[in-house]
Amino acid sequence: MYVTHDPSTGTTDSEYDQTDDVDGILKTVTEGFASWRATDVAERARILLAIADAFDEHTEELAKAITTEMGKLSAQAEGEVKLAASIYRWYGEHGPALLEPETLDVPGARLNRVTTEPVGPLVGVMPWNYPYYQVARFAAPNLLLGNTIVLKHASICARSSAAIEKVQRAAGLPEDAYVNVYASSDTVAEMIADPRIMGVSLTGSEGAGAAVAKVAGENLTASVLELGGSDPLIVLDTDDLDELVETVGKARLSNCGQACNSPKRMFVPADQKDEFVGKLRDLYEGLQVGPAADEGTELGPLSSEGARDGVVEQIERAVEQGAILVTGGRAIDRPGAFMEPTVLTGITPEMDAYTEEIFGPVAMVYGYDSVDEAVRIANDTPFGLSGSVWGTDTDKASEVAERLEVGMAYVNEHGTTMAGLPFGGVKRSGYGRELGRWGLGEFSNVRLQRVH
Ligand code: NDP
Repeated sequence: MYVTHDPSTGTTDSEYDQTDDVDGILKTVTEGFASWRATDVAERARILLAIADAFDEHTEELAKAITTEMGKLSAQAEGEVKLAASIYRWYGEHGPALLEPETLDVPGARLNRVTTEPVGPLVGVMPWNYPYYQVARFAAPNLLLGNTIVLKHASICARSSAAIEKVQRAAGLPEDAYVNVYASSDTVAEMIADPRIMGVSLTGSEGAGAAVAKVAGENLTASVLELGGSDPLIVLDTDDLDELVETVGKARLSNCGQACNSPKRMFVPADQKDEFVGKLRDLYEGLQVGPAADEGTELGPLSSEGARDGVVEQIERAVEQGAILVTGGRAIDRPGAFMEPTVLTGITPEMDAYTEEIFGPVAMVYGYDSVDEAVRIANDTPFGLSGSVWGTDTDKASEVAERLEVGMAYVNEHGTTMAGLPFGGVKRSGYGRELGRWGLGEFSNVRLQRVH
């Protein structure tokens, strides 16, 4: 049973029955693959453009679904729907050209032609933190390519996962090209192990990633993993500390801090650390915390009370191990999954917080004596998703950014994601890339035809 709760109130929203009809689902997407791959790419692109338009048209209603089921502030929810629309649109507009056959100038034959072709039905396992955006990253390039999809979304966002399927069908996507399922982890494993499934893409925690990759590996099924992160944000200098703190402090709290690529660790020159931390504390203590749908709310709930309790426990453990709690750190005593925005300092390599990801509204601030020290600690993490460097001299900041061991490095911004830019990480942040032309490469058959 999938049960959704409103984390702004703690009340149950809806209940959905699970399916275990693996054979029926796989039969559908396998038969669907034969016709979807044979559909002209221009028609597949046209349907993606229609899906993009439908997302734009139904922004408000789609946004409300995620505000209710995972507590995203209304404005951020609407922004996410628009972002998802832009991804379907990007592949609709640019995809066909990226799939044009290529002729290679290689001697010894009359023709060396390379085509990019679909591989077959795929399974997508997606998380609750960006319910529309995460699915769009996986679905748009693969539908354009001609692959078909079984989509298992996070159980707490059963309502938005149904809405995605509904929007796609209304826009003309055949029912057997994309099937939304409410399935248990065991059922998902059974699907991945089935020879009809040609690939699996998971966004989520390390544990879920490892479980899915294990089954995929045992069955020689291709996989892409987008996992966690503990992104560094290094400040070199600034000519406006107030503005910088406001920008990076709020960036950390976007989506209530529940983003894989949120700037979870902030590094500032040691002689400015106290001032930076003081301003960050004032910012966080002045925020209006409240229901996600209320207009004045600046920080909503976490996605569930369980998620909130987990973050509070991580903070308590950090403090027990010697970290300094500057502000926040507690659950808020009201119905729902609320907690205080938090600032931690004094984190040392012996503490769990030094290496753990904290998936909530918690900024960890480090003071550094030299840029080398900041880069060393920034890279001294199991993760490698993204990172940023901020400074008035962009050349210098770019040089420092080049030293970050990440999949995505930014200067004077953090975490921008757009349809045409690659997204993904290294180390325990996962493998493979989504979005842009790279998103078309993960589950494709790059096929050579050589004619002598
Ligand atoms: P989970 O890994 O628990 O959930 C993600 C998805 O995986 C859900 O659909 C979940 O289903 C499913 N799942 C969980 N366990 C298994 C399993 N053994 N086999 C198959 N599927 C499984 O993570 P959270 O939802 O708690 O998301 C938070 C984590 O995900 C954080 O660590 C975060 O950093 C990471 N993340 C990474 C992103 C990236 O782009 N790199 C983006 C967003 C989040 P169910 O809900 O039914 O349990």
